[in-house]
Amino acid sequence: MKVPLLDLKPQYRALKAGIDAAIEAVSESQHFILGPAVRQLEADVAAYTGTQFGVGVSSGTDALLVALMVLDIGPGDEVITSPYTFFATAGTIARAGARPVYCDIDPATFNLSPAAVERFIARDCEVQGGRLVNRRTKGTIKALMPVHLYGQVADMDPLVAIARKHKLRVIEDAAQAIGAADAQGRRACAFGDIGCLSFFPTKNLGAFGDAGMCVTNDAALAERLRIFRVHGGEPKYYHAFIGGNFRLDELQAAVLNVKLPHLDAWTAGRQRNAAYYDAAFAKAALGAQVAPPVAMAGARHIYNQYVIRVARRDALRAHLASRDIGTEIYYPVPLHLQKCFAYLGHAAGDFPESERAAAETLALPIFPELETAQLQHVVDSIAGFYA
Ligand SMILES: *Cc1c(COP(=O)(O)O)cnc(C)c1O
Repeated sequence: MKVPLLDLKPQYRALKAGIDAAIEAVSESQHFILGPAVRQLEADVAAYTGTQFGVGVSSGTDALLVALMVLDIGPGDEVITSPYTFFATAGTIARAGARPVYCDIDPATFNLSPAAVERFIARDCEVQGGRLVNRRTKGTIKALMPVHLYGQVADMDPLVAIARKHKLRVIEDAAQAIGAADAQGRRACAFGDIGCLSFFPTKNLGAFGDAGMCVTNDAALAERLRIFRVHGGEPKYYHAFIGGNFRLDELQAAVLNVKLPHLDAWTAGRQRNAAYYDAAFAKAALGAQVAPPVAMAGARHIYNQYVIRVARRDALRAHLASRDIGTEIYYPVPLHLQKCFAYLGHAAGDFPESERAAAETLALPIFPELETAQLQHVVDSIAGFYA
């Protein structure tokens, strides 16, 4: 039995007629850039996330980058984020000219720890002229960029409270978390100044290539995002700002418009699979060898990934590969230990929870179309490894 980490073909087959027709309609219109499909997607995704405005962009990475740009975050500024995330989170902070400042994660949820942020501020920062300044670098802390990792909303109430207290902007990296919500039903992207989504094909709502979106409740920020998306020109060819080409293709939006109405059913499928794994792991009684993911009580975890913590991770992964079971390590090297960030001056041991997660975690197949027999095969193969 084969169990791929992700197989997108069944999803396409189920929606083929609608998707093919949507692509054909764009072909017939020959309207490729910022047309009616983009506008529809912007309105629908904003509504889906509980925000007012959507601005379609070229990728999740560009959503983060343009969010930083419109908030005037650049040289001399610093942004607090997690070192245990996809590269783009900190990569965009550095590309905007600012400095990523890492704080460690909560080991239960893998998300940025509000306590770690508080400790950093108390230990390393001071207030100068009403702004929070990093005492060591003299940089101004301008924003918090929490990541809703694997599809679970970060602990936003304390993070937003810290941001308010210190006049920090909040940019949510919700690339993995469209539709995720906290226990009060508040959705990812609805907490901060700008929420950033990715429609990369492996995300829960995936395009046929690269695509992303910024969403916000702030009309002025939405307008700035729209202007920065087209090189900062408003009106066209008159540039008060230096933006970029961050446009979302009409073809991608057309595909996403067909898919969005199915997202809740796919999420339910992922949650069903996660519940199956949780129960099967409990039954297999693997003790301390396997720790299933922790979902916060009452919250809506959308399981972009189902990530377990295990003993002897790399050997287990090889064992599963030999049994045709796809897995992945998200992420093997925390960002503070990446070569390109050596200039930040970090060393192993600086963020122990992130380092431990990088060494112990393994993502299992969780996509909605998986069959029960496949899920059980994954659990049996893991149990067999530890037997
Ligand atoms: C996928 C992802 C991104 C980047 O999105 P792209 O659309 O691939 O550019 C950013 N942050 C996180 C946490 C991601 O998972």
